[in-house]
Amino acid sequence: MEMCLHLFERRVAQDRGFTHYFTGRPCSKGHLRTRRASNKNCLGCISDRASRYREKTPGYKEARSAYDKARWEEKRDSLLAMAKIRYQKNKEKHLEYTRAHWSKNKEKYKGLNKIWRLNNAESVRLSSILRKKRTRQATPKWVNRSEISLIYKEAWRLSIETGIPHHVDHIVPLNGDNVCGLHVPWNLRPIPWLENLKKGKRLDFIVVTASLDDAEATPTLIS
Ligand SMILES: [Zn+2]
Repeated sequence: MEMCLHLFERRVAQDRGFTHYFTGRPCSKGHLRTRRASNKNCLGCISDRASRYREKTPGYKEARSAYDKARWEEKRDSLLAMAKIRYQKNKEKHLEYTRAHWSKNKEKYKGLNKIWRLNNAESVRLSSILRKKRTRQATPKWVNRSEISLIYKEAWRLSIETGIPHHVDHIVPLNGDNVCGLHVPWNLRPIPWLENLKKGKRLDFIVVTASLDDAEATPTLIS
């Protein structure tokens, strides 16, 4: 469909084979919008009519959401793939929007998080226990614990020095989806807390780590 946004009268648009035209004059309802060359219909009026129809038709909302649900279930994979492509294409825009939204609503989200933690004290406690257990299980017997504590001290030092809280990040997550990292010095690094939370369980490179009882194996990072 070819759109024409230069100023054209209908006849000119038709002569040139355009499907739409724009005169620069508002319609009788006051829309300054493109019109269809085939029947002069203003696009603003068309969308108004559609929303009036949606509002006055009983059961429209329910039918529409049932249709959307069925479509989602039927075409889930291709819809997801399409969304992914769209996201990749506009990645910078997405990031920019998310950042702006976060910095605008930071206090609100922090407050909500606090309330959630208070209301869900039991799951907070449980996940802390699980995290400690995971860390214990991922710590080989042969590892030098004082080296590990040095990294935690470094995170503490960075937090004080920069004023930004630093967390100790597992480069390969302990509970990754495909690989599991170890709680060993070469899998640990101090990073700003927000970066750590943003990273989650994601892993940007393939890593071969030493096994739990093999002190000789060398970890290899392939970027
Ligand atoms: Zn109109």
